[in-house]
Amino acid sequence: MPYPQNMHSSRPAPKADTNQGELAILSQIRARAAQTASTSLRLGIGDDCALIRPRLNEELAITTDLSIAGRHFRLDWHQPESIGHRALARGLSDLAAMGALPVAAFLSIGLPRELTTSSERRASWHQRFLDGLLALAAAHKTPLAGGDLSESPIPLADIVLIGSVPRGKALLRSSARPGHLLYVTGALGGSAAGLACLAELAHSAKPRSARPTPPRIPRKLEALLAPQLYPQPRIAQGLWLQRHGLASAAIDLSDGLSTDLTHLCEESKVAAEIDASMLPIHQAATQSQALHGGEDYELLFTAPAAARIPKKIAGVPVTRIGRILPARANRPTVTLITPQGREPLQARGWEHFS
Ligand SMILES: [Mg+2]
Repeated sequence: MPYPQNMHSSRPAPKADTNQGELAILSQIRARAAQTASTSLRLGIGDDCALIRPRLNEELAITTDLSIAGRHFRLDWHQPESIGHRALARGLSDLAAMGALPVAAFLSIGLPRELTTSSERRASWHQRFLDGLLALAAAHKTPLAGGDLSESPIPLADIVLIGSVPRGKALLRSSARPGHLLYVTGALGGSAAGLACLAELAHSAKPRSARPTPPRIPRKLEALLAPQLYPQPRIAQGLWLQRHGLASAAIDLSDGLSTDLTHLCEESKVAAEIDASMLPIHQAATQSQALHGGEDYELLFTAPAAARIPKKIAGVPVTRIGRILPARANRPTVTLITPQGREPLQARGWEHFS
């Protein structure tokens, strides 16, 4: 059942262990979504379609990401707030990689019935999922403008994000050229290091109920787990690069540096070399996690050697890690320079939970 269609937005207070029906959930989502707004969104939830009015000379950037339990998150590892945050972060990160400004998000969710059960003392799983998603949406002024809801044997969330970018100014994967330098924002490998820690916590936790329940996170581990549980999409950094016209190509690091750099090289028909000693490895991560870990949601971008790239963009460090080379028949797509010499870097971004 799609969200909108003339539902009134007040929600009855849930009774003890209420299994909320779809209508109640939809009206709840609508009421909460109404608290977010953007100037380009003319009409949000409430009609058959949302209406978006792009400004003159702007193009719309559109991306979709599916998150499935057991594949992209685990009910016995991730708190529901984190799962909501991560679902939206994946889409926002794609907008950041294009240098786009978020305009609206659309969320379709499939949930087993028990995840919609709440009591006076305890919010339901789906309410906590929305808490996480809407907090990140508010931080990036991204209104939830529609979606769909269905009962499903496994939890899943599909997020569609619409962004806007001045015509012809989107950052593409396909325009890196030999001689351009390679940069990344932030630190690499933190998400994979956090995931390894989360897995340990989950395995050593005593089961607290028959249902899969994520482990409690000790306060001293919150910072270490943050890149995995609450990754920050680099919207401000992508916008800065787009507005200053300094980046020649960009991609976000969702699958891992080795895999995403290979994508960028293939789209640009070039090769690349990166210097292991220059990588901004997260303090908790290994070099392998930084190269292949994935889910860091940092930006990887190229710029001509003459471009003046600052050391920080909107508060996030930027590090030069290598350069673009011409593609040659006998040259690997990506080469890693180490103290021992040069070696081909295979694309082996981590396949979580596979
Ligand atoms: Mg992407």
